[in-house]
Amino acid sequence: MLCVRSDHDHDGVNGMTDIYDQATAREEQDRELALQNLRYSAKPLPQGVCNNCEASCGGAFCDDDCREDYERRERMNKINGRG
Ligand SMILES: [Zn+2]
Repeated sequence: MLCVRSDHDHDGVNGMTDIYDQATAREEQDRELALQNLRYSAKPLPQGVCNNCEASCGGAFCDDDCREDYERRERMNKINGRG
């Protein structure tokens, strides 16, 4: 929309537009971040119980085998759309 009236406050309008553009860019950035978090869900695993075999242990897994089992299953879940 083009305004040709000389008494129109163009500066005010431009200022508003800048703020709006910045807010929109910010929102899109936030949305993109949220999507990335969903896609590569980096949620921290519970510690103290093995996330694979549920035996109590120091970290999130009792050993590398359990970690590999868990990661393999997670990958399969993602492929099957259940992750
Ligand atoms: Zn385990």
